Amino acid sequence: MSALIRELVELQEREGWLEDRALSELARRLKVPEHRLESLTTFYPHFRRSPPPEVRVEVCRDLSCELGQARAAQRRVSKSLAEKAGVELVEISCPGRCDQAPAGVIGDVPVCLSDHAAIEQAIADPSGVAFRGWGKGYSEADPYSQATEHYSTAPRWAKRPPAESVEALTEAGLRGMGGAAFPTGRKWALVAEAQGPDKFVICNADESEPGTFKDREILGALPHLVIEGMALAAHAVGARQGVVFIRHEYGPERRSLEEAIEAAQRAGLVGPGTGFELEVFVSPGGYILGEETALLECLEDRRGEPRNKPPYPGRVGLWGKPTLINNVETFAHATAILAKGVDWWKQLGRGSSDGHKFVSVSGDVAQPGVHLVPFGSSFADLLEACGGMAEGEGVMAFAPGGASSRFLGPEELSVAIDFDAVAQAGSMLGSGAVVFVASGRDLQAVGLSLTRFFRNESCGKCVPCRLGTDQAVKRIEAEGGVGPALRNDLESLSETLAQTSLCGLGQVALAPLLSLCARFPDQFGGD
Ligand code: SF4
Repeated sequence: MSALIRELVELQEREGWLEDRALSELARRLKVPEHRLESLTTFYPHFRRSPPPEVRVEVCRDLSCELGQARAAQRRVSKSLAEKAGVELVEISCPGRCDQAPAGVIGDVPVCLSDHAAIEQAIADPSGVAFRGWGKGYSEADPYSQATEHYSTAPRWAKRPPAESVEALTEAGLRGMGGAAFPTGRKWALVAEAQGPDKFVICNADESEPGTFKDREILGALPHLVIEGMALAAHAVGARQGVVFIRHEYGPERRSLEEAIEAAQRAGLVGPGTGFELEVFVSPGGYILGEETALLECLEDRRGEPRNKPPYPGRVGLWGKPTLINNVETFAHATAILAKGVDWWKQLGRGSSDGHKFVSVSGDVAQPGVHLVPFGSSFADLLEACGGMAEGEGVMAFAPGGASSRFLGPEELSVAIDFDAVAQAGSMLGSGAVVFVASGRDLQAVGLSLTRFFRNESCGKCVPCRLGTDQAVKRIEAEGGVGPALRNDLESLSETLAQTSLCGLGQVALAPLLSLCARFPDQFGGD
């Protein structure tokens, strides 16, 4: 597996930063040219090339935190830290703590920037900050009522022909929960059919789109379901090696996952002698790594730039071998379905929908957080489960599928939480990240925040995406917002990006902003 990036991450953990001298020594020891290391350290945002400050305060600037008054919080924190020597305040992309908006990270401790006492404590001694833990209301998703029962499903299925678990998931209609909603049974079948003695199973735990944090909760509260899902998948497709690719910001969740892997090793599910080795790989950062082929490039020690598709990873994946890549939540549900049966899964849904889904809710709601909701329930039901809008405001708009989804309005609150229903309403459910925006909000600021995010996170491989997103942000800033003339230009730029971008980031970068322009023309200079 990856050696260079792993070494770089470990070197930075030891030394605090990547000094020229240390990089030269590393290059000599690993027998690689220095420019290879340089190309990695300049691409991945986690790597530091200058000495770290005594305390680094990171402030999220993205959608849910923008709604959570991140700018004001940043000014407040900056003022209160002005007297403190050795403190560096930096803006970062979404760290996946949208339910604690305005979110920040001090050391590697997540804090809410409205909680002044927590900030002071984290600066003085990060280990003294109480971790808020994970939700406990997910028992419906867990087929096991106690830890002693964990890992008892995979051994049962290991005695049956591999095709049977694939058939069960196909019959259940389980779809990928990372955003693409590809049928899980079909994906497993494609990798099972692929030829070759070496195959891989990868869990994509690199969620990092603003508004998206439900995998964080699953990794923290239900890691055993993810691990067992990977073992079940390994049996189904004929893989002997697995990797959990997890974002570096998820320190507490990584520890929860690693403890669960140790338990799975003791149970004989994974590890030496079981036929399935499982390792955890810590991402060196960047939203683009959630794109499956960029993730593979990273695991192969290259810059995380998406590959041309086809071929798809199911045929030509990690190191050119057939590779099954599923999302955290998909593996967790696969375990539950294979433990409790297809009928159990089907009766969970409402109306014509089957199953249930973890949904991240943030923005202007009274109680942001992760909810387990039956497919087919409505966004109005979800809002009610979150205690309604904060301060009794009305809903002006909501993003049903995170930062890359087109916004819907209050009249669509009755739409079912279901991949097809949301698509019919003109948007997408994506990974299930719902961001509510209250009446009276400045939608120009919301649109700009989203466009900035995609500009900041473009990997730069495609010229239209790299330059187009930058031009869009610069023009919006220079013109003080989007008016009718700029809107026309952005629509044509969006068309170009949709046709010429290699991956989804560039293809949809301007779509959320333009959906706001179309739905709320009065906030964008009228029509
Ligand atoms: Fe990178 Fe953008 Fe091209 Fe995607 S569309 S590969 S993010 S430059």
